[in-house]
Amino acid sequence: MSKLLRQHFEDREIKKGSGQVSAFIALSLGILATLAALCFLFPNLLTTPDFRPLYNANILRGLLFASVIIGFVSGVISLLRNPSKRWGMAGMLLNAFAALLASGQIEPNYYDRSMYAGLDYFILTLLISALVFIPMERFYAKYKAQKLLRSGWVTDIKYFMFSHLGIQLLSFFTIIPAQILFNQWLNPTWHQMVSGQPLVLQFIEILIIVDFFSYWIHRSMHKVPSLWRIHAVHHSSHHMDWLAASRVHVFELIVNRFVGYIPLLFMGFSPAATYAYLVFISFHAIFIHANVRFRFPYFRWVLATPEFHHWHHSSEKEAWDKNFAAFLPIYDVIFKTAHLPDHLPKKYGTTANTKIPEGFVAQLVYPLQNKQRKNN
Ligand SMILES: [Zn+2]
Ligand SMILES: [Zn+2]
Repeated sequence: MSKLLRQHFEDREIKKGSGQVSAFIALSLGILATLAALCFLFPNLLTTPDFRPLYNANILRGLLFASVIIGFVSGVISLLRNPSKRWGMAGMLLNAFAALLASGQIEPNYYDRSMYAGLDYFILTLLISALVFIPMERFYAKYKAQKLLRSGWVTDIKYFMFSHLGIQLLSFFTIIPAQILFNQWLNPTWHQMVSGQPLVLQFIEILIIVDFFSYWIHRSMHKVPSLWRIHAVHHSSHHMDWLAASRVHVFELIVNRFVGYIPLLFMGFSPAATYAYLVFISFHAIFIHANVRFRFPYFRWVLATPEFHHWHHSSEKEAWDKNFAAFLPIYDVIFKTAHLPDHLPKKYGTTANTKIPEGFVAQLVYPLQNKQRKNN
């Protein structure tokens, strides 16, 4: 997203009725449609080989053109309503460009698996997340007044793009090949016994094992000052919603994905169970950040709910260094860091002692700058 667009939108909530919402729809659909059209043009380079057999090109092309029409019409509406014509115009042009790109489709060759960018993975996760979590936050909002495009959303979209096009994708497609490799070196009897279990059972075992390690990685990130500077970026958001889940520093993504999963490699689970776990946990991570008021009275001590993780993000003193578990609060109970009072938290973010700059690049370099005192 351009610097101009950031200056225009960042740290400002978008107002209804001024042509800004339609400009946003036009531009977002225009960007997504352009990326999707590029996937049609260069499927071997940009799409994920494992996903290709699942696609129906005709249905996807129909959806793409429907999205282009909605995006173009939104651009026209913005042009009519917004005194500043440039965003509506940019949205219209972007959608027209996507239509032009998509119409020049080359017959795909699905056999080449040499190199790909997984652009389709980014587009699909963004669409699925938006379709599930935006209506959920609308109907069950904890903070009803909180806008979809609250302050800092541009920064978080950049995180979303960065992690889905980079690290997350990389981890998906390195953990499983690494696991297959490790499985060959394991004791065959042990490997057969573990991977021969029902998938559900393996899935639960992976949850229990990975969660134990991620509990301690997360707790260390709060306790070791140099690690806290990396992890504090995740805590810098003052609003909790589905998009805030993406705000994770690249160093932390690497540590979580590659150190947290090492124990898995020695266990001998089947790749299908690991795959199911990775997909599940990435959507669960979005869910626990969502701006929803669910309390789950019976499950709140069994599984990590939005309430549980919202307390972890609270800047209220009683909640400091609490609720580290990603999925199983039992680890916080065992290691005495659980905090689930009767009410929901009110304030989020880091305290005045940890001042995190705004913006993606500033946050990227923040842990490398001069050390400050750790607090919360
Ligand atoms: Zn934390
Ligand atoms: Zn979080």
